[in-house]
Amino acid sequence: MLTQIKGLHHVTSLASSARENNGFFTNVLGLRRVKKTVNFDAPDVYHLYYGDEAGTPGTVMTYFPFPHAARGRPGTGEVGITAFAIPKGTANAWAERLATFDVARISRDTRFGETRVLFDGPDGDRFALVETDDTRAPWTGNGVSADMGIRGIHSADMRLRDEGATAELLKFMGYEVAEKKDNITRLIVPGGNAANTIDLETLPGASHAAQGAGSVHHIAFAVENRARQLEVREALLDTGWQVTPVIDRDYFWAIYFRTPGGVLFEIATNEPGFDRDEDTRHLGEALKLPSQHEHLRAALEKRLEPLA
Ligand code: ZN
Repeated sequence: MLTQIKGLHHVTSLASSARENNGFFTNVLGLRRVKKTVNFDAPDVYHLYYGDEAGTPGTVMTYFPFPHAARGRPGTGEVGITAFAIPKGTANAWAERLATFDVARISRDTRFGETRVLFDGPDGDRFALVETDDTRAPWTGNGVSADMGIRGIHSADMRLRDEGATAELLKFMGYEVAEKKDNITRLIVPGGNAANTIDLETLPGASHAAQGAGSVHHIAFAVENRARQLEVREALLDTGWQVTPVIDRDYFWAIYFRTPGGVLFEIATNEPGFDRDEDTRHLGEALKLPSQHEHLRAALEKRLEPLA
């Protein structure tokens, strides 16, 4: 069993309008845009990152916005809900805030004793805000006060036809079954960051998801550094997983592999971080391009949708 994985690093999804996506995460949810760059594999598309002040691993939600992309069709083989942590006693205030922005499908429930507010993002992306005792410092620069601000990612909820093989994989990765009720199994990684929870939701009769705007593209797990990442890569390869080589994403190093339930997993390093190429005070403001795409800057600045 691995001990290097410390919870989630980021969750990456697909969007249609970059401007709407940016407005939703900054103005409605109050997160900080910590990086404005492009998809390194398709540089005519943005890669937008939102999180806490520094973009600390475990707080980061990222998007590839494809203008005019069709919506995805929810189903199995994907992450159905990305959940963020909010302070205890703030679910009502959040539900009211979301309603003032005409956010769609706002509802309330309780899972494993935790109060949740569920709602849709601009492309039908499914989110939850979960009341917890999370002590991470929130970003307060976008008009959401510290006493209710989002603390970071709480969990990702994977929808699967059969949880068996995915649960086994997560246990190999260091997760332990914490709770089980009805068709949901909660796994938590001991000693992890606060984004340490994965829920597996079993839906044997449901059809497979079709990816599009509003779908989660992949989830990334955090390791401290490149040495820990290589250990994880070796262990996964030894167990028969098809893992990519290490890829430089400028703000972290990444490896990817497809899991039995259909969800794409990434293992990302906490180093070097989002202040690698701009001062923390100005994170996310300028368009940052990786060196291999810097020659495209003039064309990209003309082509990419203004965010505000
Ligand atoms: Zn990623």
